[in-house]
Amino acid sequence: MGAGRVRVDDKKIINCHADLNQLVPFKYEWAWQKYLDACANHWMPQEINMNADIALWKDPNGLTDDERTIIKRNLGFFSTADSLVANNLVLAVYRHISNPECRQYLLRQSFEEALHTHAYQYVVESLGLDEGEIFNMYREVPAVARKAEWALPFTQHLADPHFKTGTPENDRKLLRELVAFYVIFEGIFFYVGFVQVLSMGRRNKMTGTAEQFQYILRDESMHMNFGIDVINQIKIENPHLWSPEFKQELITMIRDAVTMESRYAHDTMPRGVLGLNAPMFEEYLQFIANRRCAQIGLPEQYPGASNPFPWMSEVLDLKKEKNFFETRVTEYQTGGALNWD
Ligand code: FE
Repeated sequence: MGAGRVRVDDKKIINCHADLNQLVPFKYEWAWQKYLDACANHWMPQEINMNADIALWKDPNGLTDDERTIIKRNLGFFSTADSLVANNLVLAVYRHISNPECRQYLLRQSFEEALHTHAYQYVVESLGLDEGEIFNMYREVPAVARKAEWALPFTQHLADPHFKTGTPENDRKLLRELVAFYVIFEGIFFYVGFVQVLSMGRRNKMTGTAEQFQYILRDESMHMNFGIDVINQIKIENPHLWSPEFKQELITMIRDAVTMESRYAHDTMPRGVLGLNAPMFEEYLQFIANRRCAQIGLPEQYPGASNPFPWMSEVLDLKKEKNFFETRVTEYQTGGALNWD
């Protein structure tokens, strides 16, 4: 009781001392818009028909061993990776982002991470895979374990109940962690798997699984863009954090991530399959790493890298996906919106 009313000028993305229970007046319209866009993209894993995948998976001649490896490894990686992201959001990031409209998006994002884990579980169950094998890959299969192990220490710092932002050192820890999760984990480590599974769908194999991944990719690209907006807003409000040494440290993190994800491409795809091979993925990772660098104001690291999978940007372009927008989302909008006519 008694404190003054919240004004837009009182709002800050980190280290804000204004009342965080009041959503409006908005300061970061982009965060609110992303929340609205994310809600308009609502979907559920059980809506996707898995019958063709089940028949193909059961047919002994349906898929090659290499194709089966791709499906299982990616389910292994993603099934725990999205839980890791969810835990990071709820137990670490949420506490330190001191703005209600950003937190509103974080709540929506957290639910989407739950949906993604649900989708992998649904695929595993539909195909009758050994769930113990799939869900333990992040501890038992080196190619999968390496990426999870890389990310975990970042979230552990921030989830420590004694950790508080407000010093340059700790504010940089938060920024470093946001780069690790939004730019690298969701922005680089997810992309070999996305291309591999979506390539199967393009060849009319495992089309239900591929459709699940297509919805997930669409959500993930918005998560990443939100994270990038948050990082850039923190930079605008706290320019002293963005020192040359810190930038160099982030560049090193991104370059290491590209190397690790290239290894994942080799490990999941020891031979060429589906018209794909590991060197194409190296080029692709360099191409997206350049974009990630540019998005947060770092110099591009791989001059001249081009995109060997131009169809991936079409998948991301929402307007071209008539299936998604003309059927599913429309149904949700009519189901969820009040009609006063
Ligand atoms: Fe995500």
